[in-house]
Amino acid sequence: MTHSEGKIVMVLGDGMGGRDVPSLGGRTTIEAAHTPALDTVARLGASALMYLARPGQPVGSDTAHMALLGYDPFQYYRGRGPFEAAGVGLSMQPGDVAFRCNFATVDEKDLITDRRAGRIKSGTDQLAAAIMEACREGIEGVQVFFKESVEHRAALVLRGEGLDYHVTDVDPHEENVPWAQCQPALNCPPEALPRAERTARIVNEFVVRAHEVLENHPVNVSRKAEGQPPANAVLPRGAGEAVELAPFSSRHDGLRGAMIVEVDLVRGLGYYAALDVLDVEGATGGRDTDEMAIARAVAEAWKNYDFVLCNIKAPDLGGHDHDPHQKIQAVEKVDRAVAYLLDTLDFSHTALMIGADHCTPVTVGDHTGDAVPVAFYGCGVRTDLVDTYGERAAAAGGVGQISGGDALVLLRNFVGRISKFGA
Ligand SMILES: [Zn+2]
Repeated sequence: MTHSEGKIVMVLGDGMGGRDVPSLGGRTTIEAAHTPALDTVARLGASALMYLARPGQPVGSDTAHMALLGYDPFQYYRGRGPFEAAGVGLSMQPGDVAFRCNFATVDEKDLITDRRAGRIKSGTDQLAAAIMEACREGIEGVQVFFKESVEHRAALVLRGEGLDYHVTDVDPHEENVPWAQCQPALNCPPEALPRAERTARIVNEFVVRAHEVLENHPVNVSRKAEGQPPANAVLPRGAGEAVELAPFSSRHDGLRGAMIVEVDLVRGLGYYAALDVLDVEGATGGRDTDEMAIARAVAEAWKNYDFVLCNIKAPDLGGHDHDPHQKIQAVEKVDRAVAYLLDTLDFSHTALMIGADHCTPVTVGDHTGDAVPVAFYGCGVRTDLVDTYGERAAAAGGVGQISGGDALVLLRNFVGRISKFGA
């Protein structure tokens, strides 16, 4: 094997890690799931516990994936909005400020009655086009770009002089209240305050204009006629500014990488890191996602790339919904995808990592800062005594405890694609 042949595959179950669940006899959802393939990886490979950022720090999918790709999130993260915007195909330039947005429903008293507009499935492209038309001339000399994403999600990009991303959310994150006024954030540096004030003013004007345009838009007129909540407001949140990341291949000595992910946010990170972001028909990001189509796409990408990262979203959904059985089914989806890869890839020159980008315990319903279980298998991996995949088992793993930023270093070491430090 020459150094240029080693390949790396990372398979992540989004939010797959968890905590003990009383209704499962104290097991975690991974431990309760039937996972012959994941167990095989652990048995024939080596396990570890991984803190994505630092022990106990809950992370988002964005900061977690930054760490896994070798970009220290504490150094590079500038908010979620830019990743979301890139993920839906809005390009960004230095100085731009971006937001992720929800289409929402507000009533005649301007109270938010549904933060997700009934998880609107269609027509948001027409609503977004109407908003773009209303902002064609810009606001206070700032250009406005708005684009719909899946379901109720969308992204907003502001481009112009004198903007700053240290501003608060318009989305109040609760219902039966009015939308919040955007204003400079508490952590805004004093020298940025005038720019943050201007940015907040523009955002507030945008929200008013969007509401005016959407209220009587034909899409909403017919939604109301059908008894569905109209998508008559846009709630920006998660302001951030465009980040500059060194391309993944230059950061990792020429490793050519691809990403197969179901979340726009992480797709956006892929664009910033100059990874090839591959589309897979049937990868819905939902509980119904076609995990075998994802597995086949990973196997296909493995032929053409040195590094392939894949993230299956479904486990995170069960965690957020406090639903152990749904999460178990999602973990079993990940297992089936990994089974296919075990049958298909050539592990004489490939190292596989299975893991998660964070824990989303069903007992909590949100991300926690607990370590996730990781298992490595294949080329270069020294085996240990662990024979199942799970939180408890991984604590006895031969790789020990690692951070998210260690993962690729370890994998590059396994396949002989890292140079010696020292003489
Ligand atoms: Zn995640």
